[in-house]
Amino acid sequence: MKRVLITGAAGFLGSHLCDRFIAEGFYVIGMDNFITGDHKNIDHLLENPNFEFINHDVTNFVSIDGELDYILHFASPASPIDYLKIPIQTLKVGSLGTHNLLGLAKAKNARILIASTSEVYGDPLVHPQSESYYGNVNTIGPRGVYDEAKRFQESITMAYHRFHGLETRIVRIFNTYGPRMRLNDGRVIPAFMGQALRGEDLTIFGDGSQTRSFCYVDDQVEGIFRLMFSDYSYPVNIGNPNEISIKDFAFEIIKLTGTDQKVVFKDLPKDDPMQRQPDISLAKKLLDWSPKVDREEGMKKTFDYFKGLSEEELRKSEH
Ligand code: NAD
Ligand code: UDP
Repeated sequence: MKRVLITGAAGFLGSHLCDRFIAEGFYVIGMDNFITGDHKNIDHLLENPNFEFINHDVTNFVSIDGELDYILHFASPASPIDYLKIPIQTLKVGSLGTHNLLGLAKAKNARILIASTSEVYGDPLVHPQSESYYGNVNTIGPRGVYDEAKRFQESITMAYHRFHGLETRIVRIFNTYGPRMRLNDGRVIPAFMGQALRGEDLTIFGDGSQTRSFCYVDDQVEGIFRLMFSDYSYPVNIGNPNEISIKDFAFEIIKLTGTDQKVVFKDLPKDDPMQRQPDISLAKKLLDWSPKVDREEGMKKTFDYFKGLSEEELRKSEH
């Protein structure tokens, strides 16, 4: 049985990746320190003989007994309010954490895939964003802690590839959503859905003309899986190119949830990217991948998940 280490396993994407790799017949070692993750995302795996869990902060030396064939490094705060709250940990997990995992991959002769992000493009001046765009990041702005950690992560990964001949993969993930997102993680989908469920107004930051392109988690996991087993070492965008303004999106959510909430406008956070849409030509060509789940279907599944949360969890999520 091939053995895979997944960091950030108790998080949103990490837990879905654990499920996928187990379903594909791998032995999965999940690692997390729960800084933004949740036990309930992996509870269903704890009795599985092909899964083990290690509670560990990957910014400290990472050691695994036995052989390892693959590593997926997904540990990192991912939502703006998380990484603004824990900026130093965010920088450390992208830099020191990635260094530790690259070292482990080298020691075990394992292939490693690291989770990068569309944030490496910053507030992009090129639209849509293709992998050849170098980005427009404010290094010293509040979001810089995340963006620059991820840019460093890409650089050190390429250095291990070039200098040590390590087998590396880099996925640039664009806004991905679905069940197991934390209702209070501040990202726009849980924020709007939580507000709709609690009967609150939906908070639009700025005038809502900024755009995002939302990818359903199953499509994202499929893209990542294909990339891991491709032979391509340079970054690949994985996301859904269907772009929408945040204002239009708020009204879409009101319609979907069947509520009669209003929208309210709040200040736009500093350096909030004004537009974002992945160019996925490379993923299409290289991986024969494109997203299959449209926004209506994906949002419905996600809303069903949030609706299933207890009253207590819903209240806990109020800002
Ligand atoms: P998440 O917050 O749900 O999951 C991240 C997990 O990493 C959490 O369980 C957290 O406890 C864990 N973690 C953080 N620091 C750690 C450390 N030092 N040691 C061990 N565990 C640690 O976020 P997510 O949305 O699942 O994102 C996962 C990865 O994907 C991140 O690297 C993120 O940057 C990347 N990403 C996600 C998106 C998205 O839209 N979801 C977009 C771009 C990139
Ligand atoms: N946003 C918003 N209201 C909220 C939360 C977010 O209008 O309650 C906006 C945010 O300013 C950004 C977009 O929604 O323009 C997406 O935000 P998110 O935090 O989900 O992701 P990111 O900015 O990292 O793409």
